[in-house]
Amino acid sequence: MKYSTHGVVWLVVYALFILLPLLALLTGSLPPPRDFWTEFSAALGYSGLAVMGLQFGITARFRYVTEPLGEDVIYHFHRRISLFAVALVIVHPAIMLIVHPQLLAMPTGIDAIPWGAVAAFISVGALIVLVITALWRAELRIPYEWWHFSHIALALIAVTGGLLHMVGWSFYLADPWKRALWIGLTIFWLALLFYVRIIKPLFMLRRPYRITEVRRERGDTTTLVMHPDGHEGFRFRPGQFGWLTVWGTPFKITGHPFSFSSSAAATDGRVEMSIRKLGDFTAGIPDIPVGKRVYLDGPYGAFTIGHPTDMHVLIAGGVGVTPMMSMIRTLADKGDTRPILLLYGSKDWDQVTFREELEALQSRLDLKVVHVLANPPADWFGESGHVSADVLKRHLPEPYAAHEYFICGPGVMMDAIESALSELGVPMSKYHSERYSFV
Ligand SMILES: Cc1cc2nc3c(=O)[nH]c(=O)nc-3n(C[C@H](O)[C@H](O)[C@H](O)COP(=O)(O)OP(=O)(O)OC[C@H]3O[C@@H](n4cnc5c(N)ncnc54)[C@H](O)[C@@H]3O)c2cc1C
Repeated sequence: MKYSTHGVVWLVVYALFILLPLLALLTGSLPPPRDFWTEFSAALGYSGLAVMGLQFGITARFRYVTEPLGEDVIYHFHRRISLFAVALVIVHPAIMLIVHPQLLAMPTGIDAIPWGAVAAFISVGALIVLVITALWRAELRIPYEWWHFSHIALALIAVTGGLLHMVGWSFYLADPWKRALWIGLTIFWLALLFYVRIIKPLFMLRRPYRITEVRRERGDTTTLVMHPDGHEGFRFRPGQFGWLTVWGTPFKITGHPFSFSSSAAATDGRVEMSIRKLGDFTAGIPDIPVGKRVYLDGPYGAFTIGHPTDMHVLIAGGVGVTPMMSMIRTLADKGDTRPILLLYGSKDWDQVTFREELEALQSRLDLKVVHVLANPPADWFGESGHVSADVLKRHLPEPYAAHEYFICGPGVMMDAIESALSELGVPMSKYHSERYSFV
């Protein structure tokens, strides 16, 4: 994984967005001082709210922000920082209730409960449901689309409740400019949401794509060939991915991410995605009619070919071969001569997606393909089982740290390869991973 200066700059901007509103509260006219724990708890609440609001920006898919780090790193950060924000927001009332147990005294009627407290209650409740459904979506068997919709709704409820609670108490908001600061922040968060859900889809609506070919591949996989319809399309780098909407408009809450599998050297805006059947959405892909209008949002991701003189070691499991295919096809189109080693794990010989094309590409490139089959046929002399540290050692020339590695496949395989590379002394800066699950 590569962390560029560009990425560090964005992290600093992010930290400023969190800390500046907090520091601003401590300037100008201040309310009468309270005990340490009360003030500390208030600071936690304000910080938690600022972090939560910025989550709308983190997941807004701003290419300029996500590209230097990679989308998976951004989502990983989103998950971790969200848990941190939730911890801050929950510890805030917990400290208050410990320090001021009288707050627990039940008011005489519902009307007697301050609305700021009601807002806090709703906000914390929404946050708890949000965390539970995010952490245990699979175990709770919540379909991805439902989960995605509820995730956005719960986040909105939590942030709105938090803001109302802050205004209801308004302890640090006596100065008009402090109120203006928080109103400004709120407008900024809403603008981010407006951009993601209205402006960007409008832009995509004006730049549709047409399916020009639907190609069946080995391994329950279908390749969609798409051309821009009435515009020039976008350029991508081999290994990147895009969000595809097939049924419905770009205003639909959930798009599906797929790597581009075609050559990035195509000049007519042509884009291909190779999609393996997994659930509801992917099951419908083989039946898409040629001529259908679809929408693409992209390109995204930092998983792309590296230094031209390094040997490229591509390690793929199953459909994780798609970004590798884009890299190989692009290098072939460009007449690139760098050595490439593809270690490719599949279930069985018949399921090896792109098998024949990879065979043919070996004559156009300095490419060696090593197939690793989980269920090899009786007369198989090649590698069997899974791509592992032993397989790596058998086929990699030394020194291992001199090559660049690209890994994409099932999570278990990727974890095993990453630890094998670290045991072989390959520094993190020399390997790149693309995970097919953000959750
Ligand atoms: C960066 C990236 C690149 C990918 N590239 C490819 C590719 O080239 N070829 C390929 O076959 N698959 C690829 N995938 C996986 C693909 O996105 C999922 O298999 C597909 O979205 C599953 O949808 P479904 O409704 O058929 O399955 P479901 O059964 O609904 O979902 C199966 C799992 O896929 C994930 N998923 C489902 N919908 C989404 C969504 N809208 N956004 C994010 N994750 C989702 C969830 O973890 C879910 O549990 C990629 C995933 C990522 C993150």
